[in-house]
Amino acid sequence: MVNYDTVLIRYGELSTKGKNRKDFIRKLDQNIRHMLKDFPALTYQRTFDRIYIRLNGEDPEKIRELLSKVSGISSFSFTEKVPSDLNAIEEACLRIASESGKHTFKIITKRHDKTFPLNSDGINRAVAGEILKATDLKVDVHEPELEIRIEVHSDFTYLTSEKIPGAGGYPAGINGKVLLMLSGGIDSPVAAYELMKRGLDVEAVHFASPPYTSENARQKVLDLAGMVSVYNQLRMRVHIVEFTDLQLEIYKAAGDPYAVTLMRRMMFRIAEQIAREEGCLALATGESVGQVASQTLESIACINEVISMPVLRPLICVDKVDIIDLARKIGTYETSILPYEDCCTIFDPKNPVTKPTSKKASFYESRFDYASMVEECVKNRTEITVHPAEAEDYL
Ligand code: ATP
Ligand code: MG
Repeated sequence: MVNYDTVLIRYGELSTKGKNRKDFIRKLDQNIRHMLKDFPALTYQRTFDRIYIRLNGEDPEKIRELLSKVSGISSFSFTEKVPSDLNAIEEACLRIASESGKHTFKIITKRHDKTFPLNSDGINRAVAGEILKATDLKVDVHEPELEIRIEVHSDFTYLTSEKIPGAGGYPAGINGKVLLMLSGGIDSPVAAYELMKRGLDVEAVHFASPPYTSENARQKVLDLAGMVSVYNQLRMRVHIVEFTDLQLEIYKAAGDPYAVTLMRRMMFRIAEQIAREEGCLALATGESVGQVASQTLESIACINEVISMPVLRPLICVDKVDIIDLARKIGTYETSILPYEDCCTIFDPKNPVTKPTSKKASFYESRFDYASMVEECVKNRTEITVHPAEAEDYL
């Protein structure tokens, strides 16, 4: 087998250029070190298109699990590092092949050091020749059971038989910070994941309506935040806003059909203020067009107009079944479907308006002094920073 001693990390080659690329690599390097901070023996080396991590005896399985969650990595491999010398390369490849238990193989060489005496094809042939001579394995260039990759650099050569897909996207936090409205539902945690993958640092705001919503409902949201924080550098700040009083006033002023419209307009106003205080340049939601009454285009327009900050909606055109698949993939689905009340419980409108107008919404709002209540909500929020609940499983 490969004597794993080095992890080789590849990152997107085409998507970023120039200064952006430098920032990309620096941030990725930082994020990887943070993710692996509990493995003190690791040592790092960064080059133009790779990051190398020497394991120095640390557990590859745990490192594999964590690295697969670092966005910005296109793929990575556990490798064996040998001197850039044909004999040493052949010997190690022969060992990998004969201990693999596989029947067919292919050698794929990438020669970064153009001064190496053989070109890539020459190396492929030489190594394959040794394996054919000494084992029963056959070459299959189309569907080999075993692929041995050789990367030749001037000082060392890296050998690997497995290329593990990375999370892709951009390094967490490189593209600025957004404030996500996080409910306990299925969609918004998935939205968090999508935003994080694009390199956005995600902070969350959650609206709770005690005593109509319970401690369990609040805990569920924090648990979800903890789960997705794995993709956000192992932490996520959550602002909890209790807005029961405001909701009760809304209901008095607007009655059943407009209650949800007004509630969401207030949520946007509160979120925008928190975002400004926290240095977030945009809000984000898990909305998907047409999914429920408050997500018709008319509703979205009527709700959005009360703020001036951009609102990112990564799931706007994603089908529910696909959102559920993603929720399963990132592990939030089972928690999201736990049946706790959400802040709409307080109204549970029988016939919410599906085509609200801003004229009517503003009219109902003019019936009470919502601005000072919005201020109060912003001021009295609680802030909690959460981390992955299962951190100890990883670390
Ligand atoms: P989700 O599954 O994310 O709750 P949903 O399909 O149930 O979405 P809504 O409940 O209408 O749809 O919510 C739409 C979006 O509004 C959510 O994705 C979330 O971004 C935000 N939102 C809803 N309720 C809350 C809440 N209590 N706190 C913070 N944000 C919320
Ligand atoms: Mg919801």
